Amino acid sequence: MTATAFPLSYDVKNAVSANRLVGLWRMMTGYRLHYLGATVSLAIAAIAKTVTYLLLRFFVDTIMGAQGAGGQTLPLTVIALGFVGLAVVEGGFTFLSGRLAALTAEGITRRLRSYLYDHIQRLTFTYHDHTQTGELIQRSTSDVDALRRFYADQAIGLGRIILLFTVNFIALLQLNVRLALISVVVIPPIIVMSVFFFKRITKMYEKNQEQEATLSTVLQENLTGVRVVRAFARQEFARAKFERENWEKFRRGRRLTLMHSLYWPLSDTLCGLQMLAGFAVGALMAIRGEITVGTYLAYAGLIIWIIFPMRNLGRLIVQMSTGMVSYKRVVDVISQEREPLSAGTVRPTGNVRGDIEFREVSFEYAADKPVLREISFRCPAGQSVALLGSTGSGKTTLVNLLPRFYEYTGGSLTLDGVELREYPRDYLRSQIGIVEQEPFLFSRTIRENITYGVGRAVSDAEVEAAARAAAVHDVILSFPEGYKTLVGEKGVTLSGGQKQRVAIARILLKNPRILILDDSTSSVDTETEAEIRAALERLMAGRTTFIIAHRIQSVMAADQILVLDKGQIVQRGTHETLVAQPGYYRQIFELQARIEDELQQELAAGARDQRSGIRGQESEVSALPETYLLPSIA
Ligand code: ADP
Repeated sequence: MTATAFPLSYDVKNAVSANRLVGLWRMMTGYRLHYLGATVSLAIAAIAKTVTYLLLRFFVDTIMGAQGAGGQTLPLTVIALGFVGLAVVEGGFTFLSGRLAALTAEGITRRLRSYLYDHIQRLTFTYHDHTQTGELIQRSTSDVDALRRFYADQAIGLGRIILLFTVNFIALLQLNVRLALISVVVIPPIIVMSVFFFKRITKMYEKNQEQEATLSTVLQENLTGVRVVRAFARQEFARAKFERENWEKFRRGRRLTLMHSLYWPLSDTLCGLQMLAGFAVGALMAIRGEITVGTYLAYAGLIIWIIFPMRNLGRLIVQMSTGMVSYKRVVDVISQEREPLSAGTVRPTGNVRGDIEFREVSFEYAADKPVLREISFRCPAGQSVALLGSTGSGKTTLVNLLPRFYEYTGGSLTLDGVELREYPRDYLRSQIGIVEQEPFLFSRTIRENITYGVGRAVSDAEVEAAARAAAVHDVILSFPEGYKTLVGEKGVTLSGGQKQRVAIARILLKNPRILILDDSTSSVDTETEAEIRAALERLMAGRTTFIIAHRIQSVMAADQILVLDKGQIVQRGTHETLVAQPGYYRQIFELQARIEDELQQELAAGARDQRSGIRGQESEVSALPETYLLPSIA
């Protein structure tokens, strides 16, 4: 069966409801017929079972009785065939029901999973800032699976229980009304008890899932930051932290299981007593001759099928708590607003020119905590602006406004004279290329990484030209599989500089009018730095460029330099004008020049040692912490 055999067309967002049962019902849209089929099949199977007992009564009371009196033997074969036929019907429909139940549950959760995956990648940056990845993973996996169980076991089970109970109760009434009524006295206490447990287990399960999410988050952070953990030799700390959370999970899981294990024996005792009472009363009635032996036999078989659903009703009510909790956790994510990608009042057909102007732009992530204040400057199309300032001064935030990752909260920001928020985000992003400080490459081939997001068929010659311009072609050819080399976990590991150059090639292919560069040379050694700089110059030619700079070298050639401090522009000009005046820029320039000098001398010494095999490959420049390069203004 293909992926499209069952449509995903239902908008899962419609299943959001404050009433969890209503929501769970809505989520079944498109699968209710399967669900009905599964329940009806079960009912048919149940009826076949009940009829078997009635046939047994007939056999014992009528046929055996008649035979004893010297009656006919022919119907025996018919009766035997009847038993076989009923068994086949029961088995067949049980199987059919299982298949349909699986289809319902797997179908609903497949659709839900796909929806969540897509939804999560469309949520706003602000939402992602405030939500831990582990939490999202937990909700998309463990909680979705709890919902799958809800549909596969509990929803179908509920239908089955109601049908089984009804059919068998009617059959019991047929046998004997008094006996039938005696057999169900246990229902009220079972329901009261289940509701009590349902409430407690819901709370505990909620806590259990929260803690599981915390564990996922710790695990995920540790895996992502495995290098940092090792570099700082923090394994022991990480282990202790995980152990604390794991202990808490153990505690909550244990309490939850305890609650479950308290429930089962209690309900089993109740049901056992009920069954015993039924047997005893039935036997007494048979002895007194109020019912026939056949009726008693049938009753003994049927009562199990009455007790069984009652016992399971309680179990189901309790288990449904997990589905309800998980529904809420999943819906919390689903009801988050998406970032409107294509909303905007203008939609230019061609490319922008790239003329950008900030007029008293301000921005805050949280109310009353301005991160950018009254930023004003203009960057004509094709020119470059370098942003300099200590960590936390707002450089990243400023450039993140351009692709509308975040919305500026005050002032005016225009592109080609049109207010930025008039442009649809998807259009804007198609016009902007971002080279991050640590570019992310996917675990695919190098070629796929270079052509990522280009959105059109690209020839090998084009890919190669981009790679050449990004000074990474030769590096790629040095791998045995060239452009088909896999990157990442299952393939080669690229150095920081190589990754950056692949990212540059990617942007060259994309060919945007506006560029954002996060100081792409700070983590590479001096030799590749020259190559990257050359690649960057080719990339920047003719494009409006914003450079987040950590080092003076990266900003010297910029048309305009802005020095930021605490979200404000404190100095602006070109390299020449800024070194000529006293201030932060000149301080940095002199400091860095001195450091570079010392380092060069050390490096030269290092190179001599290296020849004698003492030093490693890495340049020490790259190991400098950013704060050392750019001391705070204060
Ligand atoms: P820079 O790039 O100059 O280091 P940033 O723009 O990253 O500075 O940060 C500016 C300020 O905004 C800092 O105080 C930082 O803590 C805060 N900040 C950055 N990103 C976020 C975010 N996603 N949510 C809330 N605050 C943030």
